[in-house]
Amino acid sequence: MTGIDVLVSEVGPRDGLQSIDSIMSLDAKKAWIAAEAAAGVREIEVGSFVPAHILPQLADTAEVVAYARTIPGLTVAVLVPNLKGAEAAIAAGAHKITLPVSVSETHSLKNVRRTHAQMLEATRAIAELVRAQPADQRPHFEAGLSTAFGCTIEGAIPEAQVARLGEQLMAAGADEVGLSDTSGYADPAAVKRLISTVRSAVGDAALTGLHLHNTRGLGLANALAGLDLGITTLDASLGGLGGCPFAPGASGNIVTEDLVFMLEAMGLKTGVDLDKLLAVRRIVQAALPGEDMYGFTPDAGLPLGFRRSTQTDRTAGSEAG
Ligand code: ZN
Repeated sequence: MTGIDVLVSEVGPRDGLQSIDSIMSLDAKKAWIAAEAAAGVREIEVGSFVPAHILPQLADTAEVVAYARTIPGLTVAVLVPNLKGAEAAIAAGAHKITLPVSVSETHSLKNVRRTHAQMLEATRAIAELVRAQPADQRPHFEAGLSTAFGCTIEGAIPEAQVARLGEQLMAAGADEVGLSDTSGYADPAAVKRLISTVRSAVGDAALTGLHLHNTRGLGLANALAGLDLGITTLDASLGGLGGCPFAPGASGNIVTEDLVFMLEAMGLKTGVDLDKLLAVRRIVQAALPGEDMYGFTPDAGLPLGFRRSTQTDRTAGSEAG
C-alpha cells in the first residue's frame, strides 16, 4: 500500500453486477474498470468464476480478468465459489482470489450448497493449488467470512462462531480472512467487537479488510468503526450497486464515491482522484439504463474549497522534484 492510508477495493463489477438483472457488455465492463483504475483505484474485484447458468452477468469473467491484468498497478481480484473456480481464476491470472464462506451454515447450503466441513476442505485444496504456483504468480488467497454480522435465514450469529471459523480457515491455509456484512446487519459497536474477537483468534495481520453493505444506512459508520480498529482495506461499489441474491432485501454495497469522500475529507490518502471517480458513474449509468445508482456525494458535489489529500500530495511531489 505504497503512498496510501486506506485501500478502497471496488467490488461493483462483481457484487454489483451479480445482483441486478441487466447484463453489462464486456466493452462496458472494460471501460468501467479502465476509468476507475485511471481515477486511482488500485484494486478491483472484476468478476466471479461461477457457472454461467447461475450468474450469466459474470459469464465473461476470464476475459475481464485478462483485460484488467493489462492495466499497470491494478490488483485484479475475483471471487471463487470452489476449487474449480480457483483453477479458472489462476489460469486467467487473477492477483487475488476470495472464497466466500458463510458463517451461517444454512446460508452456505443455500448459496453454494456446501457445509462448513466441505468449505474447509475446499479451502485446503485451494491453498494447496495456490502454493503449487511459481512464487511470482501466486495469487493472494482470502477467505471471506460472509453473513458474519447476521443472516437473513439464521438471524444473529454468535461472535465466537465467527472467530472459530476464521481460525479454521487460517489453519486450512487461507492467507487472511475478511469480514462481510452480507445482509447489512452490522452496526459500529458490533464491527468493533467482532474485529477484536476474530483478531484474538487469528492475529491482527490476518484480518485487515471489511466488506460492508449499506442496507440500513450504517455502511459508512461501520467503515469508520473498522478504521478505528486499524482496518486498511474497505470494499465499496460505485453508485452503491450490489446486494446478495440469497439475502432478500440486502441491496447495495457502501458507495465508493461517498467512502472516498469521507476518507479524503478526513485527510486519509486513498490515491483516488474524486473528480475522476465521480465521472466514472456516467459510464456505468449509460451501460445500465434503468438501474438504480446511489450516493450522496455524486448528487451534492464536492464542498467549496474541498482539499483532496491525494491531489495535494501530487502537487507537493511535483514541487519537490
Ligand atoms: Zn456483498
